Amino acid sequence: AGVAMLGAMGACGGSRSGAGAGSTTKLEKGATIGISMPTKSEERWNKDGNGLKAKLEKAGYKVILSFADDKPAQQNADIENMVNNNAKIVVVASKDGTAVGPAVEKAKDAGATVIAYDRLIMNTNAVDYYATFQLEQVGVLEARYIIDKLGLEKGATGPFNVELFTGSPDDNNAKYFFKGAWDLLKPYFEKGILVSPSKHGGGVTSKFTVGDWQKISVQSWKAEQAQKDMESILDSTYSHGEKLSAVLSPYDGISQGIINAIESKRPDMVPGTDTWPVITGQDAMELAISNIAKQKQAETVFKNVNKLSDAVYDMILQIADGKEVTGLNGKFNNGKKDVQSKLLDPQNITKDNLSDLVKAGYVTQSKFDQLT
Ligand code: BGC
Repeated sequence: AGVAMLGAMGACGGSRSGAGAGSTTKLEKGATIGISMPTKSEERWNKDGNGLKAKLEKAGYKVILSFADDKPAQQNADIENMVNNNAKIVVVASKDGTAVGPAVEKAKDAGATVIAYDRLIMNTNAVDYYATFQLEQVGVLEARYIIDKLGLEKGATGPFNVELFTGSPDDNNAKYFFKGAWDLLKPYFEKGILVSPSKHGGGVTSKFTVGDWQKISVQSWKAEQAQKDMESILDSTYSHGEKLSAVLSPYDGISQGIINAIESKRPDMVPGTDTWPVITGQDAMELAISNIAKQKQAETVFKNVNKLSDAVYDMILQIADGKEVTGLNGKFNNGKKDVQSKLLDPQNITKDNLSDLVKAGYVTQSKFDQLT
């Protein structure tokens, strides 16, 4: 609430515009629906893909679910295969939001309705709907947590050393996550209360802009890359006992890489004490649950992907009935059109409310006990 959303404004009316938004795709029971996920190697996409598949199969549809191994060409081939198998609805969480354009255009040409799942498909008219979480809010939650932990609103003047990371340069989401965070952090950089002393990404100063986000990004969200980058930050700037107060990390896997780097380069930093930096994250992955319990990671942004797949499932049932899709509450511009969107709320998880993940049915109690 009250959060600025770049390109995602207001509620949507019922009018459907653009390249055949949904049009008249009435689906028979037993019809085929394609679900194209970016990779198996990150926990969430397995949950997303398998969760949606199970719901659709229960409703009587045939489902082709594929995972693209983080390869854009693979994903395009996966989608073409769905089209060849007469998929009438194609749900795509893109590896590369731009590179996937030609494949969804083929799907559209074959009469399919295209739903962008979690990540927007860019620069094409061939996307009918988008479902995701309030993207900027993810960064807002991360930045607010850092601001709170460092006592900045209570007048702490630092200067505090912080290092910033963004997600994969080919993922439109990563920019929005950073925008949410940077809008809040930048004023403290301007006052000199926060500083990023490393030259990571050419140096983050008060002159840094949201448009610079790819300079500090981590290709394909990989933990190994984040670890390497963090190790060089520590070597160049924090090798003589310098204090590091916080690291803005946009994803739990990246946070793990950062933690690994700190543990190998700075054994004097001890989790749970003032020597250890505040490290953020996203996704409430199992490794993050464990890192938060050990006070290595301070917070994660929880996006209940079961709710996202429920939302997409509801969309699909309406499309299959030839009905107007209802409940849309935003729009995102993809460079070609405003895509009508369903936006869900993310939630902050810390040590204090970690067990909310059990209450939400996201992890079982026994798994939770094992991880914590
Ligand atoms: C998703 C995040 C996820 C990241 C890495 C983003 O597009 O929105 O939930 O952490 O990709 O997979």
